[in-house]
Amino acid sequence: MIRAKRAELRQALLEAAPWLDATEFGPRSVTAGTCDRCEAAPRLLPTCGPTTFEALCRDCAEDEGDDAWCDGHLDDGRSAREWAATLPERWADAVVLWWVATGEIRAEGSLIDGPAPLGEDLGPAVRAALGGD
Ligand SMILES: [Zn+2]
Ligand SMILES: [Zn+2]
Repeated sequence: MIRAKRAELRQALLEAAPWLDATEFGPRSVTAGTCDRCEAAPRLLPTCGPTTFEALCRDCAEDEGDDAWCDGHLDDGRSAREWAATLPERWADAVVLWWVATGEIRAEGSLIDGPAPLGEDLGPAVRAALGGD
């Protein structure tokens, strides 16, 4: 995806999902990739132990609870999970598209136009930036 398109996508995503702009939690706070625990959903929250995970998806962070944060960061962990609980059902789409927009991951055809196209619930501006209609 060319740079101008990526900037357009970033703008459209921020309008559709302003929570992407958070820096303490969310896709800007972790290295792009899948959750260290389930290796299926995207990473969403940075964690710090006593488990060995560095970043977890929403469901795994909920399952691990306080165990995913050290004693000094239990409050941070709780606010991270509370924040994650407010996200829409298809938060993972927005996270993956954010990383496409920042150039951290490549936009593959199957990702964008597969059976459940990413961003279809994020509005026409996002789909337009992806080249769809
Ligand atoms: Zn997970
Ligand atoms: Zn900690």
